[in-house]
Amino acid sequence: MSSLTKKDCFIEGHWVPTDNRFKVTNPATGELITEVSDADEELTRRAINVAETALKKWSKKTAKERSDLLRKWYQAMMDNKQALAELMSAEQGKPVAEAAGEVEYGASFVDWFASEAERIDGDILPVADNSKRVFVMKQPIGVCAAITPWNFPNAMITRKIAPALAAGCTIVVKPPQLTPLSSLALAQLASEVGIPDGVINLIPTSDAKTVGKILATSPQVRKLSFTGSTGVGKILMQQCSENVKKISLELGGNAPFIVFEDADIDAAAEQLMACKFRNGGQTCIAANRVIVHESVKDEFVKAITSKVSALKVGPGDQEGVELGPLIDQDAVDKVQRLVVGAKSDGATVETGGHVLTDIGDLFYAPTVLSGVTEEMEIDSEEIFGPVVAISTFETEQEAIDKANNTPFGLASYFAAKDTARIFRVSEALEYGMVGVNTGGISHAYNPFGGIKESGVGREGSKYGIDEYLEIKTVTLGGL
Ligand code: ADP
Repeated sequence: MSSLTKKDCFIEGHWVPTDNRFKVTNPATGELITEVSDADEELTRRAINVAETALKKWSKKTAKERSDLLRKWYQAMMDNKQALAELMSAEQGKPVAEAAGEVEYGASFVDWFASEAERIDGDILPVADNSKRVFVMKQPIGVCAAITPWNFPNAMITRKIAPALAAGCTIVVKPPQLTPLSSLALAQLASEVGIPDGVINLIPTSDAKTVGKILATSPQVRKLSFTGSTGVGKILMQQCSENVKKISLELGGNAPFIVFEDADIDAAAEQLMACKFRNGGQTCIAANRVIVHESVKDEFVKAITSKVSALKVGPGDQEGVELGPLIDQDAVDKVQRLVVGAKSDGATVETGGHVLTDIGDLFYAPTVLSGVTEEMEIDSEEIFGPVVAISTFETEQEAIDKANNTPFGLASYFAAKDTARIFRVSEALEYGMVGVNTGGISHAYNPFGGIKESGVGREGSKYGIDEYLEIKTVTLGGL
C-alpha cells in the first residue's frame, strides 16, 4: 500500500483513530482494501470546533499566502498523480488511466482557485447623498462543511475545498463511505505542503445521517456544500433551514442527448460515448435519455452500437480497460431492473443487456436499447450505468418538450448543425448546462450546476468563489 493510503480521521492536522472502523473494498474483486476510522457525533463536533479556531488565522492570511499554499497543493497532486489514480481505481473501480484524468481534473480546481484567491475584490458604489460613501467588501463566509459522493472521489472534494480555502474559509468534509481513501490522501498532501492544521478536516463515517445532521444544523457552520442524490439534498436543505445556512447543492440529473436530423451522425455517436461511458455511466451529467430524430434513427443506432460493443470491460488496473465495475450490487440490480423492465415493455436490446458474470458480479455489459418510450421507467430514472436508452421524435418542438419533461435540470446535450437551431434549442432547454456538438462540458473554468430539482449554486469558474463569500455593505456618513 502506498504511503498515501491513510485510514483515520484527519482533524487539526493529526490522524485520529477511532475504535469503530468500517471496511473499504475493491468493487472489481470484492477484496478488502483497509478499514477506516468511523467518525461519530463527538468527533464531528470536535472537527467543527477546530475549523472554527483555525478560521481566525486562515481568514487573516493574505490572498497571496492562500494562493501560494493552494498552488503547492495542486503541484503535490500532480506529482503524485499515478499513486492517487491507483488508489482511486482500487476503491472506486474506474480504470487507472481514467482515474489519472480525474486527478488532473480535480487538481485543476485547486489551480484555478489558487488564482481566484487573488481576484477577490470589492466595490465603491455611487451614492444618493454626497455626505456619504458606500463600500462593498467580500468576506469569507466562515466555517464550511462539505458532503461528497463516491463517483468522483477526488474532484468532488477539491471542487469544494479549493474555493473555500481561496475565499479564506476553513472546512470540515464528510467524504463518501465507499471511497474515503482518495480524500484522505489529499489531506495528507495538503498537510505536507504546509496548509495549516485545522484548515481542512476530514471525518469519514458509516453514519452519514447523524454526522450530516450535525454539520447541517450546527450554528458554527455557515455554509454546507453537498453533491449527491436529490433525496438527501432535500433532507439537508430542510436541516440547513434551522439556522438559515447558505447551501450549494449538486444533485441528480436526467440528461437528454438529442440527435437532430442535420447532425453529423458519427460525430454525435462519438460525443455520446464521451458523456455516457465516463465512469461507466455513473455520473450525474451522463446522458440518460438519447432522443433521436426518426429519420436518422437507424443510422445512429448502428453507429452507436458498433462503438459500444467494442468497449473493453474489466478491472480498472488492467491495461487497456475502458469500463470498470459498477460501484456495488445495488447499482447492478438497479441497472438490470431498468433494462429488463424496458425489454418487457417493448424496447429492443441492440447489444449487452446482462451482467458479465465471467468477469465479476459487478460488471455490466455496455448496452444499447432502442425503441424506448416515455412510459418506460428507464426514461425517467437516472440509470447510473453503461446503458444507452434510445427513443425517437419527429419535430424540434417535440424533442424540446421531451427533454424538458423531467423535474431535473442539470446537464443536457444535443447534436445539430443549423446555427439558428443551435441558438433556439440552447435557449429552450431548461438545464443549467448545455453541450452542443460535444460530450465534454466539465472544466474548472465553467460554471457547473443545475436548476429545478438538480440543485442550487454553481461550482468552478469565476462564479464558484461567490458561494464561499459574503457581501458586506459599509456606508460611511458625515463626510
Ligand atoms: P449517491 O447515490 O451518490 O450515493 P447519496 O446522496 O446517497 O448519493 O450520497 C452522497 C453523500 O451523502 C455520501 O457522502 C453519503 O454518505 C451522504 N449521505 C447519505 N445520506 C445522508 C444523510 N441522510 N445526511 C447527510 N448525508 C448523507
